[in-house]
Amino acid sequence: MYKLLLGALTGPFILQRSNVRYAKQDIVQFSMVKQLKRINLTPVPMNLNQWIIQIVTCQINRVEELKNQKLVEIYRDMLKMVGEDPGREGLAKTPERAAKAMEFFTQGYRLTGKEVLSSALFKEEYSEMVLVKDIELYSLCEHHMLPFFGKAHIAYIPNGYIVGLSKLARLVDVFSRRLQVQERLTHEILNCIQETLNPLGAAIVIEARHMCMMMRGVQKQNSITKTSAFTGIFRKVETRNEFLNLIQSDSI
Ligand SMILES: [Zn+2]
Repeated sequence: MYKLLLGALTGPFILQRSNVRYAKQDIVQFSMVKQLKRINLTPVPMNLNQWIIQIVTCQINRVEELKNQKLVEIYRDMLKMVGEDPGREGLAKTPERAAKAMEFFTQGYRLTGKEVLSSALFKEEYSEMVLVKDIELYSLCEHHMLPFFGKAHIAYIPNGYIVGLSKLARLVDVFSRRLQVQERLTHEILNCIQETLNPLGAAIVIEARHMCMMMRGVQKQNSITKTSAFTGIFRKVETRNEFLNLIQSDSI
């Protein structure tokens, strides 16, 4: 029966082992079916939608691969331009490593804050302040592409829904893993919370050190930049002060 079924199949497949589907595998041609069966992979015929998704995914992966190769070349050229020899032992793999690191530092472009928050919204009648403080933050300033890093403190007052606490930390990553200025980063995080969660109010304070001030230019090692933004009832002095007092207290 199995052989008969295989005999009737043509075109693309997705691979399946027990209940695990290898949806990201390349399209498998009919000629490979027998070999696959020998290594315990069952080819399952794709419907048209799955096929289209597979082809689009392959194309996107290919584009990403080409972009990565280009970035590696750029880093290799950069090494030459600063007077280095990209061929010397210590630098042999540096362009690849730097390209990989840059991809990581800018992964926020491939994510949306709304999706991150929406994935963990829970109906809840709690309507007191929820505060997550000291969320580590690492970003790159868009003027020099040098790091700035510090902490974000975020609070909101629920209006029927709460969000998984780790999602607030994740949200900071979504917007900070891009080229940024601290002022815009502050507003983007706050606006996303306000628009997605629709709380009675939201608040954020970011404090950060900027390497472009420390390593170059004015070379000030100890300056900290603080930015803040508030919506809804955090615009009231009492609520705002309660938030500001809470983030200054050293608990735990
Ligand atoms: Zn800068």
